[in-house]
Amino acid sequence: MTGSHAEQGGDELEQRAIELLKQNRDGMLQTDLWKSLNITSREGSRLVLRLMRRGLVKREEVTVGNRKTYKVYLVETAGAQLRILVDVSSIIDIPCTKCLYLNDCGHGGFYDPSNCALLEAWLRREAAKYKARTAVQQRAA
Ligand code: SF4
Repeated sequence: MTGSHAEQGGDELEQRAIELLKQNRDGMLQTDLWKSLNITSREGSRLVLRLMRRGLVKREEVTVGNRKTYKVYLVETAGAQLRILVDVSSIIDIPCTKCLYLNDCGHGGFYDPSNCALLEAWLRREAAKYKARTAVQQRAA
């Protein structure tokens, strides 16, 4: 065991706990987890609560011998950074994002998306790009 728990940062401890739980997909008794991490039960409880709040682990009450304790499990996505990639490339240059009249624009108003030349030109360009992409994909298939 390297260093005491007092020397370890919270992040490092959390990472080590997650690594241990990854290696024990069927869960670990919390006392075994504390021992493996070389931390006290008080520190361990806090650690698990932190990880539970972040949705990284879950725990389940179990009886070992005649004593009730908890088994700690890694939640499916634990350890993995949840990334949501949003592709905004198709709308990044929509004229409305830079339009001076955005706040005054609306259906039936003086500035109206249904008869805006700028928006129509952008839609036509996007449609042409889409058509070209689709044609390339069809040729490649
Ligand atoms: S639809 Fe035309 S007028 Fe309205 S916000 Fe977009 S670019 Fe501006």
